[in-house]
Amino acid sequence: MILALYTLGKDPVSLRLEDEAANMPELAESGVTGKITVNLEVLPLEGDSFLAQAEAEGVLSVECGRCLEPFLQPFELKFNVLLNRKPSTGLDWVDDEDQGVEDYQAKLGPDVTEVPLNAIIAEQVVLNYNLHPLPDVDAAGRCVQCGRPAVLAPTPKKEAGVDPRWAKLGNLKDVSGQDGSDKPNPGKT
Ligand SMILES: [Zn+2]
Repeated sequence: MILALYTLGKDPVSLRLEDEAANMPELAESGVTGKITVNLEVLPLEGDSFLAQAEAEGVLSVECGRCLEPFLQPFELKFNVLLNRKPSTGLDWVDDEDQGVEDYQAKLGPDVTEVPLNAIIAEQVVLNYNLHPLPDVDAAGRCVQCGRPAVLAPTPKKEAGVDPRWAKLGNLKDVSGQDGSDKPNPGKT
């Protein structure tokens, strides 16, 4: 998934991107399967900047946290990418503490012709969707997703805490916030 800069101009543009998760390892590893669609509305701003408002849609391959049955879970994500120019070459992702977790900022050098979106989409999937969801139980005591009699106390599939998918993402910004600055001193004797 790539936003090609030559498509942008003085007028707002609407773009529709489609690809298969099988062609995009970052997305496949975050749980996406099959076709993914991204609709982009790109607005020109002052000073050769652009704001791209994106909506991504697709399907995740998940496993019921209750019954351990695999099933397909549709997903829908929104994110925004602010594009600014910079004089030096290359593409830099900018961290801004004031922006929301769905907001991204890129600074583009004169040599940059396209903005990659896969890492953003993968990050948003991990932020918003659990690969082991816990569906409700109906009045008859069955999992509403799988129809199986619900186990009363489901055993956790993974240790609470860090989603293992994070390890595979070179996250664009530190979504966990400040870290390590006030670690206790491991007191030496
Ligand atoms: Zn289930």
